[in-house]
Amino acid sequence: MEHSNIVIIGGGVIGLAIAAELAINNEGVFVFEKNKMIGMETSSHNSGVIHSGIHYPKGSLKARLSIEGNTMIYELCKRHHIPFKKLGKLTVANNENEIIELERLMKNGEDNNVEGLKFLDRDAIKSLEPEIDAQRAIYSPSTGIVEPFDLINLFYRQTVNNKAEIVTGTEVSSIRQIDSEYELSGLSSGEPFTIRSKTVINCAGLHSDKVAAMAGLDIDKLGYRIQLCKGDYFRINGSKPVRMLVYPVPSFPGLGIHLTPDISGAVKMGPNAYYVDSIDYMVESNKNEFMDSVRRFMPSIDKYDISPDMSGVRPQLKKDKNGFRDFIISHEADKGLFGFINLIGIESPGLTSSPAIGKYVSEMYETEVKSES
Ligand SMILES: Cc1cc2nc3c(=O)[nH]c(=O)nc-3n(C[C@H](O)[C@H](O)[C@H](O)COP(=O)(O)OP(=O)(O)OC[C@H]3O[C@@H](n4cnc5c(N)ncnc54)[C@H](O)[C@@H]3O)c2cc1C
Repeated sequence: MEHSNIVIIGGGVIGLAIAAELAINNEGVFVFEKNKMIGMETSSHNSGVIHSGIHYPKGSLKARLSIEGNTMIYELCKRHHIPFKKLGKLTVANNENEIIELERLMKNGEDNNVEGLKFLDRDAIKSLEPEIDAQRAIYSPSTGIVEPFDLINLFYRQTVNNKAEIVTGTEVSSIRQIDSEYELSGLSSGEPFTIRSKTVINCAGLHSDKVAAMAGLDIDKLGYRIQLCKGDYFRINGSKPVRMLVYPVPSFPGLGIHLTPDISGAVKMGPNAYYVDSIDYMVESNKNEFMDSVRRFMPSIDKYDISPDMSGVRPQLKKDKNGFRDFIISHEADKGLFGFINLIGIESPGLTSSPAIGKYVSEMYETEVKSES
């Protein structure tokens, strides 16, 4: 029987960011990824936006980790020569209700100490983005973009350089607690495997509720069950009608269909948001929904040619009465699972937060698990 110190389930940006941190001071760190390659699920099906942290309630993990992650990602990109663009973002409003929501958003951003936020009127918006027509907007200078696979590959290199092992094609299908360890089994490249580990970190993304259930947790009672919330994107072909990110005020259950330039300047529209029962990455939406949404703040959209681009699936938790759910990052010692750490519901701003989550979980491991075992 193989033994390890720490097993991380899931080789997405979150599992790898945590592995990169833990591998600095610990031996026997393994990442198990069910796919043949790392980063093939949500981590590579997203907008690639480095969020400012304006959207999330003060004191939440989403606010704290995205604001910390925003600064860390720009530093990492500079240090490791990863392309990024700090484009800035406009969140636009075109009627009274939207303006009230914009003011609420501004207050939230200020409570979170997001730097450099300012209101713009119609003329100021036009001078920045001539194709955008809106009564008012919040300008957020710290929002930017990065290619998600550049971050995934950075955390991968940092992990393996510190002698941790990333084992792809390896799916964990059962977890048993035996004495002070966990016995994990499943299939690795089609062959059965079993390994024991003192610590298990569940970073299984869209499957993280199922992994928590494998360890014996009642995911419904704990509010850990994930709803799959898909979002499609369309691409504006050829033209580059905006330079910065342009968002409407947020609309449940996503952030609203927005315009996101990528590193090359090409502009994506999306994602929309709808619930699904299974995971696939086919674009299923009708382009009229996208045209109608975007026309509200970019009337010239009609003249641009658009085509289906990509989609992603959010690992969403059921919202509370205020319409919000925070990331779950929990050492489950109080539930009888010492050394078992769950990360569940790591939807947006998960990519932005990834380096900060790596640090946060590594500190949780050092203070709550390692020092106590
Ligand atoms: C449409 C969309 C747009 C988004 N836009 C942004 C954005 O602009 N900015 C931002 O900050 N965030 C954004 N996000 C959020 C961000 O993409 C996620 O928070 C982040 O990618 C989550 O990473 P992860 O590693 O937790 O999940 P994943 O990338 O899904 O990784 C989990 C991994 O676990 C593996 N796995 C699952 N079960 C098992 C098992 N039993 N055994 C072994 N391996 C297993 C999976 O194969 C997968 O590779 C967006 C998300 C979506 C869906």
